[in-house]
Amino acid sequence: MSTLAIDIGGTKIAIGLVENDAIVERRQFPTPIVQQAELFAGTILEHATDWMDKVSRIGISTTGLVTEQGISAVNPDTLAFPAPFPLAQALESLTNLPVAMLNDAQAAAWYEYTKLGADIRNMAFITVSTGVGGGIIIDGKLHSGASGLAGHVGHFSIDPHGPHCGCGQIGCVEAIASGTAIKRFSDEVFTPNISNVELFEIASINPQANHIIEQSAKAIATLCCNLKATLDLDMVVLGGGVGLATSYLDRVTQKILQRPAAFQVPVIAAQGDYDACLLGAAFQFNKEESW
Ligand SMILES: [Zn+2]
Repeated sequence: MSTLAIDIGGTKIAIGLVENDAIVERRQFPTPIVQQAELFAGTILEHATDWMDKVSRIGISTTGLVTEQGISAVNPDTLAFPAPFPLAQALESLTNLPVAMLNDAQAAAWYEYTKLGADIRNMAFITVSTGVGGGIIIDGKLHSGASGLAGHVGHFSIDPHGPHCGCGQIGCVEAIASGTAIKRFSDEVFTPNISNVELFEIASINPQANHIIEQSAKAIATLCCNLKATLDLDMVVLGGGVGLATSYLDRVTQKILQRPAAFQVPVIAAQGDYDACLLGAAFQFNKEESW
């Protein structure tokens, strides 16, 4: 059985032909700037024309909130199309195939969960990249919540005196720890400005660069301990460009180990790397099966 997996980001879309739980072909193109779901869906299908005679179902993972009505956003600035955007319905009517859709971090959480041992039943996936997102698995099941909001852990407000977040709150983890936040703090300090990759490179010799990364890692450690206290997690899986950057996971772990033992939780690196969301788009069809 072949699945067309689609991962929708703010700037690019990745598609994959998934067979036997593996991506056999992968393509990527810019997110179309169109307002109608049918046109958007049509553009995606054009990129997969030669796969479609094999495809028997379509799995989507997308940035934003996913409800039965379509895709919307916690932070409206991040979406290029009107909400709710009925993409799954449009793909269904164009192809007559079953279509399933999940938030991208929830999809990645499910994929990462399937890669863990059977003794792990409660876990969170946290991605630290442009934003901070996540997904929650409780008792072996993905928890999306009635409105699809579950796992938006980047909007844990952890500092009442912290920076404003695009979501309307103050001191969100995302506003302190994300790649965007790191770049903002870095631009205030370094003239000429440097990239986040350069910031990580000089962190071992530059105390200011080190401090910016440390405050990001501290916010993620706080998030992990808060989630442990709330959900008694067995494990946290960390992903995203910042989350997987050199030394970042070690920094998070060191800060967690400074907390009381009851709130400590093991943190490991994501296995799906940059394709976790795409694989999660296909893996969501296995959500009801036992692992
Ligand atoms: Zn926020």
